[in-house]
Amino acid sequence: DAEEERVLAELAHRTALYLENARLLKEAREAVRQRDEFLGIASHELKTPLTPLSLKVQLLQKQVTVLAREGKPVPTERVSETLEVVQRQVRRLSRLVDNLLDVSRISAGRLRLEVEELDLASVAAEILYRFAPAAQQQGTELELHAPVPVVGRWDRLRLEQVVTNLLSNALKYGAGHPVVLSVDARGTVARLTVKDHGIGIAPEDLARIFERFERAVSDRHYGGLGLGLYITRQIVEAFGGTVLAQSEPGQGSTFTLELPRGDIPEEWLTAHAAPG
Ligand code: ADP
Repeated sequence: DAEEERVLAELAHRTALYLENARLLKEAREAVRQRDEFLGIASHELKTPLTPLSLKVQLLQKQVTVLAREGKPVPTERVSETLEVVQRQVRRLSRLVDNLLDVSRISAGRLRLEVEELDLASVAAEILYRFAPAAQQQGTELELHAPVPVVGRWDRLRLEQVVTNLLSNALKYGAGHPVVLSVDARGTVARLTVKDHGIGIAPEDLARIFERFERAVSDRHYGGLGLGLYITRQIVEAFGGTVLAQSEPGQGSTFTLELPRGDIPEEWLTAHAAPG
């Protein structure tokens, strides 16, 4: 009868509420677990450069004290070797902290762009040049295909950051194999690709790697916080563009950026040969 139906409806309603609460609770638990795991990895990553930094500085300090006591000069090579270690590790720390700051800026919606007219081909060449010493050291051949200027309106530092992230991944996950950086344009869209022949990415990981804290390799041999590609995608989307990953495990990966060139003079839209 009517009363029975009312009770049943009420029961169904409560059950639905209960299930919804259980689902929310499970989600909240998962978020807390993810946060704790991230804090663990982040602390570990921040701590790692501090150990050699501190050891090298302590060692030099001891040597300086001993030499000073004996009235001897400190060998310059020892000082510069220490400074080199210090510089490398400080740079690594700043990169980590910058990435963490970027993530917090992005989630607060505070990523600001300062747009200017730039040539993507020159920006790519500059970044590649910066990577040359590291690449040579690990026996990685770097190749550039950017035959013509590709002018557009972008934020220089953010654009550099994106190209740097992709190249540094190519060198990290494709050490010892050739890496090719290419730049071209199709009308109002600029395109940049970074192709490596490294470890590659499993098909099921391809979509995941652009998410926050996601790392396809659980291997701690490849250090990292899984933030680089997340930040890359956020910047590219702020430019109104897209970033795509294609890969074959064991064969290598190709990352393709497509960026609208923005409001630029008509004559810049067709890719053309460099003057002179
Ligand atoms: P990470 O600091 O871990 O390198 P990223 O956000 O830059 O973070 O990359 C996320 C994950 O995507 C990496 O952990 C790695 O598993 C995978 N990855 C990114 N670039 C490449 C590449 N060129 N080759 C193979 N795997 C890659």
